[in-house]
Amino acid sequence: MPLKHESEYFLSRPIYAHIHTDAFAHNLERVRQLVPGSKVWAVVKANAYGHGLEAALKGMASADGFALLDLAEAEILRQQGWKGPILLLEGLFSQEDVFLAQDLQCDCVVHDHNQVDWLENLSEANTSHTLPKVFLKMNTGMNRLGFKPEEYREVYHRLHSAKYQITHMTHFANADYLDRTPNVDQQAELFHQCTEGLSGDKSLSNSAAILWHHHVIYSDWVRPGIMLYGASPSGRYEDIQATQLQPAMSLRSEVIGIQHLNAGDSVGYGSRYRTDVPIRIAVVACGYADGYPRHAPDGTPIWVAGPKGLEDGKICLMTGQVSMDMITVDVTDMPHVQVGTPVELWGQYLPVDQVAQPAGTIGYELLCAVAPRVKKRQS
Ligand SMILES: *Cc1c(COP(=O)(O)O)cnc(C)c1O
Repeated sequence: MPLKHESEYFLSRPIYAHIHTDAFAHNLERVRQLVPGSKVWAVVKANAYGHGLEAALKGMASADGFALLDLAEAEILRQQGWKGPILLLEGLFSQEDVFLAQDLQCDCVVHDHNQVDWLENLSEANTSHTLPKVFLKMNTGMNRLGFKPEEYREVYHRLHSAKYQITHMTHFANADYLDRTPNVDQQAELFHQCTEGLSGDKSLSNSAAILWHHHVIYSDWVRPGIMLYGASPSGRYEDIQATQLQPAMSLRSEVIGIQHLNAGDSVGYGSRYRTDVPIRIAVVACGYADGYPRHAPDGTPIWVAGPKGLEDGKICLMTGQVSMDMITVDVTDMPHVQVGTPVELWGQYLPVDQVAQPAGTIGYELLCAVAPRVKKRQS
């Protein structure tokens, strides 16, 4: 869809999330360069980390498959014309799901005994449909989902007897901590020991393992999520600065009001920010009901356009509490700023991790939390 001209949006609230589909394609290519022999599940759970499934599919149509959680999300991808593999990352939630998953031709993670029973029942029902492929999940230390190493082989043999094609899978707890390599190695070692001699592909790596452990961990199927969206698995932008990933979302809005404060004045709820000197404040149409973190403290960066536009903008600092629909930013040294001046909350000019960090969270959470009321544009 071509980018609509600004004027078409003139009458509506100016906040929007611009989704850069070319950034998806670029980031997917970066994954392929880092792990050239691996097939790639593009992880698009949570509505493609808040970016929208349609845009994600458009930008990453060359992925080997899409991994997500909900059958409803799988259905959207099928409606959009995706014919390749889809993986349900938490597998089936009920016996009925088996048939829906089969209709939608989804592959399933299996992490629990109930799921094994349901799949055995399906296999015995012996319909003419092809059986889903199984990604059998081993719990190698994350202690969230998966079979313990000591029960893994038995489950493998049950599914194998029921005629399922099985890929071995595990998930790292600490691949995003650059100082915890031994822990990653231990999980990988345990996984390889327990799957030794069993046939089937292997799937281990998330974004962090692809970025920081790709030389030691081979995965037939990798499962990148956050790096496809151009944010850091560690929550620190410095950790991905050199990787040339591009942000796939720019959350943008405009100034809708200007206030001149005298020395001693305060701004916003609770009068959290009080000034000793006269300052000029811009009010931006973006608040926590749009998904901006309410915990952002004074000093959180906000990118404000320069006289020529966003490309010659600079970082200004938040002053005062985030409210439901507005934030306030000090623009004292940017005299050109007026109502209508563009602002970027995060994206192309300001990495989402640099906003998440002062707010005590990670880019993942901010991206996923962009509210439905924020319109999306695509290019
Ligand atoms: C979400 C998820 C991923 C992707 O993780 P990122 O840190 O976003 O790369 C990979 N594997 C599984 C099982 C997941 O749930």
